[in-house]
Amino acid sequence: MTDIIIVRYGELALKSTGVRNWYERKLVQNIAAMLKLRGIKYSQIKREWGRIFVHTTDPEAAGVVADVFGVVSASPAISSDATLADAAKVCADIGAGMINDGESFAIRTRRTGNHSFSSRDIGIKCGDAVWEHLESVGQGPSVNLTDPDKEIFVEMRQTRAYIYTEISKGVGGLPLGTQGKMVALVSGGIDSPVSAWLMMKRGVEIIPVYCNNEPFSDETTRERAMDCIKVLADWAPGHFMKVYEVPHGDNLTAFLTDCEYKNTCLLCRRTMYREAFEIMKKENASGIITGASLGQVASQTSANMYAEIYGLGIPLYHPLIGLDKTEIIDIANRIGTFNASIKPVTCCTAVPDHPEVKAKVDALALEEKKVDIDELVADSVSGAKIIIIDSLSSISG
Ligand code: ATP
Ligand code: MG
Repeated sequence: MTDIIIVRYGELALKSTGVRNWYERKLVQNIAAMLKLRGIKYSQIKREWGRIFVHTTDPEAAGVVADVFGVVSASPAISSDATLADAAKVCADIGAGMINDGESFAIRTRRTGNHSFSSRDIGIKCGDAVWEHLESVGQGPSVNLTDPDKEIFVEMRQTRAYIYTEISKGVGGLPLGTQGKMVALVSGGIDSPVSAWLMMKRGVEIIPVYCNNEPFSDETTRERAMDCIKVLADWAPGHFMKVYEVPHGDNLTAFLTDCEYKNTCLLCRRTMYREAFEIMKKENASGIITGASLGQVASQTSANMYAEIYGLGIPLYHPLIGLDKTEIIDIANRIGTFNASIKPVTCCTAVPDHPEVKAKVDALALEEKKVDIDELVADSVSGAKIIIIDSLSSISG
């Protein structure tokens, strides 16, 4: 039975010692929180140069750890003393249970620390042990180092050896909480939850903002957004999410009353960006994330996107800008937001039949002069409702 999970991480290795220590501590905290959220019991989590070790016999644990941002891969392993004899014995036991008659095998080795033997010695000793064991039970084993049927991995470290056969691919990225905070504009469609997730993967804590367009939308739209945000929160156990629900319908009424009809969506978006910007500053965050993808819908033209930010000076990030819809849907499925996003909702009734697709950069700034844009934004932000989502809150222990 495996007794430990080997956790490998990537880009952290490139950082200076101080930063790296801090990143690793965050990663350990995030791993602990994810194990707690998914109900995996463990006795301890230890850091060692270049690796994290989770002491648990739960076979599900490696898959759970692989879902923590920053993890490159994880393997359930059997640990032994760091001697050739001990590692070889574990290999022989594993081989006996795994290699069928006629199948070839290979031992893959890796060694760090000071030992009286080399990696090659480990391969020979462990390979011999597997071979002899298989022969003793009447099998005809064969070694094939280029394309074996079965592989056994031995990682020899200073004081312990780790023997494993499986590698769960991790989600990658950087530990959540190491890259500051950003506001994520989450509508609940397929795109915006994926864009928020991609930035979480890069280590950013998100502050979701949902702009409630009622009376031009209804409760179905709000619920869809909140469901998506809850899925995102499950990727961030240990980091509660502060969700802003901003009343945005009065702004739409003002644009429909005073501005040119075809510009409604563009004015709506500029106002959302302004609202998000105010929240960003209040929360000491440093960017705003949207789910825009170039050309995906008629309004997402480069001309419109320029007009939407013209004169605003707001730090906007569009992580999906170059992705195809099918690529975005693949990610949505993988991260679990797709099903929440495709729930039927009532479309925004303020959307004109023929919205502007080729806005002139300065036209919107002129349109905004027809309303008191600063007051609209200030009223929306001061009327925002704050909802705290803590995925660990209902879990005790
Ligand atoms: P999505 O699938 O995320 O809804 P979309 O492709 O439908 O995106 P738009 O509706 O044009 O695109 O919106 C572009 C982006 O603006 C969204 O991805 C989101 O980041 C933001 N956004 C749109 N509507 C809202 C809203 N009601 N609340 C918060 N953000 C919104
Ligand atoms: Mg949308």
